[in-house]
Amino acid sequence: MSAFKSHMDLALSEARAAAARGEVPVGAVVIGPDGAILAQAGNRTRELNDPTAHAEILAIRAACEKLDSERLPGCDLYVTLEPCPMCSSAISQSRIARLYYGASDPKSGGVAHGPKVFDHPQSHHKPDVYDGIAAEDCEAILKTFFRDKRP
Ligand SMILES: [Zn+2]
Repeated sequence: MSAFKSHMDLALSEARAAAARGEVPVGAVVIGPDGAILAQAGNRTRELNDPTAHAEILAIRAACEKLDSERLPGCDLYVTLEPCPMCSSAISQSRIARLYYGASDPKSGGVAHGPKVFDHPQSHHKPDVYDGIAAEDCEAILKTFFRDKRP
């Protein structure tokens, strides 16, 4: 049994990089069952003209490609913000084992708010969910971004 090591610092650096690109600063990291970093990504919806290019979706796609698999059993996902309903559904579809997220998102979140995707009877897979990981840092990046964006 190894000690828990949070990878939220890496997700936070992806969020900062997204902000520098003018994207909503959210970052995500996928960790393999062996603890290896499989993928890391930040939001790229503007750059790619793709409303589905959320950090979680990009990280899940890259991790699946790396493992040559349509699913990610035994993997962990770290994301700086509570996943939206779309990403929550993708997390469920990908069979990710554990979800760690930072800031809570009462407005657009889909885990603890809104449709609460994992608790819905249609959800085929519910990961273990750990919220509030480095939440203050995750919130600060978002607050700064939106304050500077909309004075
Ligand atoms: Zn999303």
